This record gives sequence, structure tokens and C-alpha cells, in this order.
Amino acid sequence: MTRSVDVAVVGGGPVGLLLACLLAAGGADVVVCERRERPAGVPRAIGVHPPGLTALERAGVGPAVRAEAAPIRRGLALCAGRELARVRFDAQPVLSLPQDRTEALLEARLAQLAPGALRRGHDVTAVRERPDGIEVELAGGAAVLSARYVVAADGVRSPVRDMLGIGSLPRRGHADYVMADASGTGTEAEDEAVIHLEPDGVVESFPLPGGRRRWVIRVPRETAPTDGEGFAALLAHRLGVRTPGRALTVPSAFTARQRLSERFARGRAVLVGDAAHEISPIGGQGMNLGWIDAVDLAATLADALDDGARAAPFAEYERRRRRSASRATRRAAFNMAMGAPVGGVRRLARDAAVRMLARPPAREALARAFTMHGI
Ligand SMILES: Cc1cc2nc3c(=O)[nH]c(=O)nc-3n(C[C@H](O)[C@H](O)[C@H](O)COP(=O)(O)OP(=O)(O)OC[C@H]3O[C@@H](n4cnc5c(N)ncnc54)[C@H](O)[C@@H]3O)c2cc1C
Repeated sequence: MTRSVDVAVVGGGPVGLLLACLLAAGGADVVVCERRERPAGVPRAIGVHPPGLTALERAGVGPAVRAEAAPIRRGLALCAGRELARVRFDAQPVLSLPQDRTEALLEARLAQLAPGALRRGHDVTAVRERPDGIEVELAGGAAVLSARYVVAADGVRSPVRDMLGIGSLPRRGHADYVMADASGTGTEAEDEAVIHLEPDGVVESFPLPGGRRRWVIRVPRETAPTDGEGFAALLAHRLGVRTPGRALTVPSAFTARQRLSERFARGRAVLVGDAAHEISPIGGQGMNLGWIDAVDLAATLADALDDGARAAPFAEYERRRRRSASRATRRAAFNMAMGAPVGGVRRLARDAAVRMLARPPAREALARAFTMHGI
């Protein structure tokens, strides 16, 4: 069976869903092919930065996100319990909401705007360019979808990027971490992110809705704890304090790395979100950057559809988004370098640099970098 649509989005993660909402709201005929029968439910992003919130507002889920999220208005950097730096984001706080909740809100919004547009269990196995459009083949080879444009929003491994023959190149920034959600130590303010720059590696803690916190610890993969007890013991060892609550989620270890696709488009197919760029989670930019891409891409696609659905309309989109992605990878690499294990004189130099960055005139720039301004 062949059905023709304006845009076929491959991948129903946060970026594909937001893009589909924007396209549907603008009157385009859009489908989202998502291979998973149900959401993955794996803990990932929490941070929603001001430009990401602007994108969510445009998609119509801003009020719902703001109602559920915990605001982060302040950031504190410590070393061995001593304050190194303090920044405030009062004007535009960062919001904290687990990614699965944001995705659920976007999915519900898409169901309102374009009922049935999200097709779960649709695994895309091939894309083929035709003179006036592009075909998408689903697993089993039985169903084919024809579209004017195809968007690869299919994540870091992006099968569609491979199908298009587009490579992905490593960028600077690579380190191992483990994370879990738990209560705080009792010393953190509810709206404050706390970064402990310890000699053995950084420990970060961020507010979550409901008074809990997301803890992220830099630790080699081979020694990462695999249960709540081990995680609490590692925290106690690094910080000298215990989290009072036992309600830890199962710790999950992850390797932060960075990659940028060689190109962001080929013909009628275009990459967005993690398919185009893998940004280290340290600094919490990846999903937000994908949403900023999606706002740009929705406008680019709307213009191209108005203009008779011309064959390769993505050059300017690619130029703008590549520049932003490069900037985000540099900021993330800096964040990761600051949290590396360090001792002796190098630690003193690092601490002095952090203190200096938190004083005028650098402080304003630091707060802007942490809230993704200029991306
Ligand atoms: C531990 C961790 C913490 C993070 N924290 C933050 C943070 O605080 N802030 C932030 O901005 N970012 C953060 N990120 C990054 C963020 O999670 C990603 O940038 C975001 O999920 C990317 O969204 P996406 O929609 O591009 O891709 P994904 O979320 O990966 O979604 C891709 C979708 O495509 C589907 N798919 C794949 N192949 C096919 C196919 N062939 N056919 C059909 N469907 C397919 C997949 O099933 C998946 O649902 C974090 C990441 C990690 C790992």
C-alpha cells in the first residue's frame, strides 16, 4: 500500500515529535514512523533551557511543561565543601523535567493536532529518492510510504543517516559517568544545581520535580556502581556525606561522547537532533539543540512545500545548524574538562579559573553559556 504525505519523520523521540507538532500546526500532512511499540522509559534528559522552552511553547506544550517541571534558578560550584562560584538564572530559569514526561506531553499534543500521525511499530528499513519525492520502506517490505521530504530524527545511531551514506565524525570530549535519581543531602536549595568539582572527578546534582535530585558522578566505566548501595557509597566517598533517602533509582552508567554528521541533508532527506549531532549530556544541551533545529527545519520545510516542493532546499538550514552544533560541542567539551579528575597545582589553577569565570565581567557570559544563549 502506498500513501503520500508532505513529510515523513523517522523517529518519535522528543525532536521528531516536536517537529511533527510544528508541521501539523502549520497545516502540513505529516506522519511519524517510530519503531518502538511503546516509549523506552530509560532515564535520559532532564534540563530544558530557555531556547528549548521557546520551542516547546511554539509546539503548544509550554504551559504543561512549566506546570510539571522544577525550576533551576541558581548554580553553585564547590570544591571540598568550599564555594568556588555562584551564578543565577533568575530572569529565565532552566527547567527540570524527565525526558519521558516531556515526550508524553508532545505525543499527546501531536494526537490533538494530527490524530493518528504517530505510527508506532513502524520500523523504517529503506529510503529511496524519486524524481518528485522520496519513498520510505517499512520492515517486512510490505508497506511503502511516499513523501515530499523525509526527516531523519532517529537518534545517535540513525539508521536513515546510514541509508543515505552520510558519515558521522568524532568531536573532542569523551568521558564516563554514572547517574541515579535520589533525595538530596539536605544541604542543597530546592532550586539550585550543585557542581562538586572534586579531585577524583565531578559530582553534579540537579533538582527534579517532587523534591528529588538527579545525581551524576564522573567515574571510570569499570568501577561504576550498579546498585543503589554502591552509588550511595561512591557519593559518600566523594563528598563525605550520605543522601538521607534510600529511594535511589537503579544507577545507569553512560559514556559521554560527541560526533557531528558529515552533512545534514542529501536531496529530499534531512537530519535533525541526535541524528545530526551527538552532544555530551554534560551541560544538558543535546535535546534542546534538537528542538532548536526542529523550529528552523519546520520553517524551512514549510517554505519548500509552498515553493512547489523543490528537490534540495536544506543548504541554509545545514549552515545554521552546523554552526550551532559546533558551538554546543565546544561548550560541552569545556564542561567535561572542568569536571575531570585533577590534583595538585593543576587543581589550584582550575579552581582559580572557575572563581574568575564567576566574577564580572565573565559571570554574565557564563550564565548565558549555561542557559544555551547564542545556540
Ligand atoms: C544520560 C543522558 C542525559 C541527558 N541529559 C540531557 C539534558 O539534560 N538536556 C538535553 O538537552 N539533552 C540531554 N541528553 C540528550 C538527549 O537525551 C538527546 O539529545 C535526545 O533524546 C535526542 O532526541 P532525538 O529525538 O533526536 O533522538 P532519540 O531520543 O534517540 O529518538 C530517536 C527515535 O527514533 C527511533 N528510531 C530509530 N531508528 C528508527 C527506524 N529505523 N525507524 C523508526 N524509528 C526509529 C527510536 O526508537 C527513537 O525513539 C541526555 C542524554 C543522555 C544519554
